[in-house]
Amino acid sequence: MKIQCDVCEKAPATLICCADEAALCANCDVAVHAANKLASKHQRLLLESLPNKFPRCDICQASSYMLCLDYT
Ligand SMILES: [Zn+2]
Ligand SMILES: [Zn+2]
Repeated sequence: MKIQCDVCEKAPATLICCADEAALCANCDVAVHAANKLASKHQRLLLESLPNKFPRCDICQASSYMLCLDYT
């Protein structure tokens, strides 16, 4: 499953940010989250570290790739 970066819409995303509800490539992650202190606190999940079968979020029960970080 390839997810495109929501910011540049060119590169494949390497991680997702729950706060932004966005998939980001490495470059955009740095650009977006270095912008200010608040953004730098966003928790992000590396896509490659996620299991192939995404567990459903305990809270929203969504089957999308977006995982709620409260899951952990
Ligand atoms: Zn990007
Ligand atoms: Zn973020």
